[in-house]
Amino acid sequence: MDLASLYSKMSKQKWKVLDGIFAHMWDYEFVPSELIAKRANMSPEKVEAILKALSDERLVVNKQLAYFGSTFTFIGLSLYSLWRLVKRNHVSMLGKLMGEGKESVVYNCYSEKYGEAVIKFHRVGYPSFKKVREKRDYGTLHFTVLTVRSARNEYKALRRLYGFVSVPRPHAWEGNAILMELIDAKELFRVRLTNPEDVLEIIIDEVRKMYSRGVVHGDLSQYNILVSEEGIWFIDFPQCVLLEEGEGEGESEKEDEAEELLRRDVENILNYFKRAYGIEKDINTVLEYIKK
Ligand code: ATP
Ligand code: MN
Ligand code: MN
Ligand code: MN
Repeated sequence: MDLASLYSKMSKQKWKVLDGIFAHMWDYEFVPSELIAKRANMSPEKVEAILKALSDERLVVNKQLAYFGSTFTFIGLSLYSLWRLVKRNHVSMLGKLMGEGKESVVYNCYSEKYGEAVIKFHRVGYPSFKKVREKRDYGTLHFTVLTVRSARNEYKALRRLYGFVSVPRPHAWEGNAILMELIDAKELFRVRLTNPEDVLEIIIDEVRKMYSRGVVHGDLSQYNILVSEEGIWFIDFPQCVLLEEGEGEGESEKEDEAEELLRRDVENILNYFKRAYGIEKDINTVLEYIKK
């Protein structure tokens, strides 16, 4: 995914067309070209010609239904989200690709406002149990909507936690992209700690602070904790559960899910420290401490 070179090949009219898809994607999996035309203030013929060009560049997928409709590809949505970040002056220059995971693509970038930073472009993969449930709750959700929601969830979690828990500072959110502070540290699994007892204690205390602010990470592991001489940071929150103020002691489905995820998170961490450093802690004692 070479976003920089794709970006340079875009025209004002192409951006307008993508903007039209974004505006209506909440209501249509394939957005009618007529609606795009209205919003872009172009003729439907012109819009369809542009959509065909965008499809050749793999930025959109078109489909002839009872109408002519279009949807973003992951690259198309990412490029459009980048454009919004640039337009709002959050991003000045895209840097190099830092990593490509199952659920995201992470780029280095430079921002005149925030300095060096990273952009995480979310992509939602195959449907998991959680997403199937979301479908049931919210009707038919397609890839683009799910992906934007996953970015929003991560942004909300970072916003809520930053300042209380050690997480990258969130700068901005547009579409499937989150702009955040660049952390100069390595994943826990790549580091040989000299003081593993201390680090485990810090992790447990941070998870406790997270929980007290109504956040359960949901994918906590040695891959989603960064460490350096300067400290530790938690990353990768799209799947987290956000409890509202006052929630957490009742018995709603969401709270049950949070409890389950919290136990699994703590289990993952304790297992890792046992395996890697021979440290043993009783999970129930730790969970009790976190919830206290
Ligand atoms: P996975 O596929 O492992 O679930 P992911 O695709 O959901 O991961 P993240 O874990 O958030 O996404 O990020 C992927 C990788 O990018 C991280 O493992 C880390 O190396 C790097 N990374 C993410 N955010 C930052 C950041 N703020 N600063 C520095 N590096 C980061
Ligand atoms: Mn993961
Ligand atoms: Mn990760
Ligand atoms: Mn992840």
